[in-house]
Amino acid sequence: MSMVKNLWSKKPSAASIFEHQKSRRARATKRGAKRGSGLLSICILRLNAGAGLKYHAVALCNVLFVDCHVHLVDSVDPGKLLNYAYSTETLLFSVGVDRRSSVSSLSMAREHGAIVRAFVGVHPSESGQERTIEWLEGAAAEASGLGEIGLDPKYAAWEGAMETQVALFEKQLELAERLSLPVQVHSRGAERECLDLLSTYRVERVLMHWFESVDLAGEVAARGYFISFGPAVLYSKRLASVAASFPRELVLTESDGPVSFGPLGGASGPSTVPSVVFRLAALSGEVFEEVRERVLRNALSFLGEGRKG
Ligand SMILES: [Zn+2]
Repeated sequence: MSMVKNLWSKKPSAASIFEHQKSRRARATKRGAKRGSGLLSICILRLNAGAGLKYHAVALCNVLFVDCHVHLVDSVDPGKLLNYAYSTETLLFSVGVDRRSSVSSLSMAREHGAIVRAFVGVHPSESGQERTIEWLEGAAAEASGLGEIGLDPKYAAWEGAMETQVALFEKQLELAERLSLPVQVHSRGAERECLDLLSTYRVERVLMHWFESVDLAGEVAARGYFISFGPAVLYSKRLASVAASFPRELVLTESDGPVSFGPLGGASGPSTVPSVVFRLAALSGEVFEEVRERVLRNALSFLGEGRKG
């Protein structure tokens, strides 16, 4: 734990928040409507081990965009986001931060299986409230993965807070390893430490959420971890620099809604995702469609759903 102690002497990086947005897809496609040749068409059967080896069809044929990290159940109006997701064919990875939001994410995924995947877990900010996580084992068995989990010195004001965060993160990584689940990692101000802890577990599918360390991006790529880029990539030079050099097959998109982005006019949520795709395409010198389709393939690979088809 000495390694863990050192690092917390650093000041946490300030949360960059802001935003604008919009750029909705010009062709307002109807669900199920016929589309151009560039569309990713994947229909698969998913094995839901948590439901007792029950197979159910997952219609990903219609998905156009993916928001790999959104706090759907903590949004002001989840129904509005669901309507948006259905009408624009956006797949949402609903992440939990505690028991309540994790359980709610699971019911969202149950009810809206075509467009919602649930990630369950305890966020470092909630580590003081959620010290026992027995409930998580059952929740994880039904979920697509664990998240939002990780470390953040910003939430370590109380005595022993960092040790508690580390212990919780380790327990959750151990669970992910045991159940072979992907994880979504929050590493603000603790990028090095998160990577060190991750390396001690056999967790193959890792999404580094809002990861902005230029120095460590190469290591993240070498390990085959994903980075999900959000609206901040539209104005942050640092994030743009990470995105421009990161392997394309490991790039994902997210909104981190309901976080709103001041520099972008206060926009938030999954409707920012097309703008993120546009920005990623500009950075890589590709066309929008190419990036949009690849991000979807990457997301399915992260979920592990593409492998089960
Ligand atoms: Zn988040």
